[in-house]
Parts: sequence; C-alpha cells; structure tokens
Amino acid sequence: MKIVDVKLGMLQVPLVTPFKTALRTVECVEDVIVMLETDTGHVGYGNAPATAVITGDTHGSVIEAVRKIYTPLLLGRDVADLNSLTRQIESAMINNTSAKAAVEIALYDLFAQSYKTPLYKILGGGESSLTTDITISVDYIDKMVADAENAVERGFEILKLKVGKDIGLDIERIKAVYAAVKGRALLRLDANQGWSPKQAVMAIRGLEEAGVLLELVEQPVKAGNLEGMRYISERVKTPIMADESIFGPHEVMDVIQRHAADIINIKLMKTGGISNALKIADLAGLYDVECMVGCMLETSIGVSAAAHVAAAKAPIVSKLDLDVPSLCQFDPVVGGATYKDADIILNESPGLGIEKIDGLQLLA
Ligand code: MG
Repeated sequence: MKIVDVKLGMLQVPLVTPFKTALRTVECVEDVIVMLETDTGHVGYGNAPATAVITGDTHGSVIEAVRKIYTPLLLGRDVADLNSLTRQIESAMINNTSAKAAVEIALYDLFAQSYKTPLYKILGGGESSLTTDITISVDYIDKMVADAENAVERGFEILKLKVGKDIGLDIERIKAVYAAVKGRALLRLDANQGWSPKQAVMAIRGLEEAGVLLELVEQPVKAGNLEGMRYISERVKTPIMADESIFGPHEVMDVIQRHAADIINIKLMKTGGISNALKIADLAGLYDVECMVGCMLETSIGVSAAAHVAAAKAPIVSKLDLDVPSLCQFDPVVGGATYKDADIILNESPGLGIEKIDGLQLLA
C-alpha cells in the first residue's frame, strides 16, 4: 500500500457553548485535515488544530510543514514501513508537534487499514468501550454549578473544572460545584498554568482541609516550572498532573525522575502523534506512573485516535479526558468511534473507520 497523494482540508465545528480556560476562550473547533491517499484507493485521515498558546502551532504552520516537509517525505512510500516512517517524521523537523501528529494519525489509520483491523487492535488490543470526563469551563459560580448539574444529569461521573483565573474565586467555584455534585461525581481541576507554586499549595491544602476531595489537579503552574510542580507535589496529598509541562518522552522522563508530578497527561498534539504517545505510556508504566489521555479542542478524528491509544495502553492509561465531541454541536465525521455523552465506543471497522467527512473544505 503506497502513498500516492497528500491532500489538505479545513474543517470547522461549532461548540455548544464557548470553552473558557485560564489561557483562552474558544467558540469553534477548527482543524487542518490531512488525507493520505494510497495506490489501493484507501484514505488515511489525520487532523491538527491550531493551539498556539500550548504547542506554538498555527493552521498556517501545520499546512506549511505538511506541504514542504512531509508531502515529499511520504509520497511513494509504503505504509508497511511504519516504524521507519514515524522515525523520519519525528526527525525531519524539530517541534511542530501538531503537524507531526496529523501526519502520523493518518499513517497509523492506513497501517491498521492495510491489516483490515481497528487501530486499537493493531496497537495491542483492549476494551472497545471507554468513559470520558467532561470539562466545565471557568465562569460565574452559578453558571459553573448549573453546568456541573447538567453534566451529571447527562451521566458524566467525572467533571473537570477549569480554574486558574483568580485564586480566591477559584476556591469559591470549586467549593460550590463540589457541594452541588458531591457523591454523584468526582472532581478534577485544571488550572492551565494559572497559579504560582505557593498559591497552588495554599489552595489545594485549603480544599483538602475543607474536606473537598479532588481526584487530581492538572498543571497548576507554568509549563516550564518543573521545580514549582515538584514543590507542590511534595506539599499536598492530592495527585498533581503534568499537562503543558510535558510534550515528548524526554520531558516525561524529566518529570518522573524529578518527582515533579504524579500523573502524566498524554495528548497526541503535544507528543507529535501516536508513536511517542505509546513510548510515553510504556515509560510511565516502567515507573508505575499513571497516565491520562487527553485532547485539544479538535475534531473527533484526533480524539478517536487518542481513544484507540488509550484503549490499547490501559491500565497505565487509567483516565480519559476526551470530551470534545460531546461539547460540539454535531460530528461531521461519518464512521469511526461513536460518542454519546460520557461513553466512547471504538469502531470495529479497519483503522479509524472513517467513511467520509461532511463539510470538509479542500485546500488547493
Ligand atoms: Mg490541561
């Protein structure tokens, strides 16, 4: 199965309500879509959102990387040479992890299709039924409580609260949501780098002393502040998770060896795709460090790829944060994994199982 064409498109999906974190507000999911076409008539799909505040990638940088670096690298190549290709994708340019992820996801999709097997089975198998949390955007307290109540009624048992904008208000928000859903849902927090190390210790200890049980606190301080992450991890009982602090396996090793976090958040757009995500899960497994698999604000193509990885790497991947399809007004991707509130069901059709994408605008 040889790659004969690389096509690019843009895909937009409106969110039900704006997504608000300490870093940004987003109203619409928008991806660059990569399609790898083969001499056998198969198509592999990959995607990349622009998440400049986290990865540095924009739609323009992704498109340029795919056109200038990855199209010449892939044309004429046999999909069967997966490992050699992923090594070359990784070393062809530094950074640009979203472009790498888009190309790798499409390549893994094709590789699994070439064996007529769902992606998660090619990656080692696992359960086809998964459960995700849902994100509650940072907002007025009443709005966050109402959103949390609504999520619990939809069947979500884990809520991820976005905090990190104003620490005093954050504590009030967390206490109010906790009181509203206590016993019905578990809370995890994501401060998206919004606190200082001392603020984080004060806030988390204060919540612990007030009897607010949190499953974990994600990325309390700036991505580059691993010492700060370690400072917090040493001083609180609540598990601390590294998200923006880690991209590839090297950062994960650093975090683990410095005891800077208890849990690792793997996202394909940070790792540069599936091969590094698998390496990270294996590395973390060596040290019994749990992982979560998360996603960016992106379409269900990449979310599904992440879900296939999560299924194959259970139980070291013990947590999922793959709620974006449930935050979108509709799913333009036909075929593949299905999303119904907290439930994700992986496809039994080959690869990612994508049949077509509605509303895709091809780039010339
Ligand atoms: Mg996060």
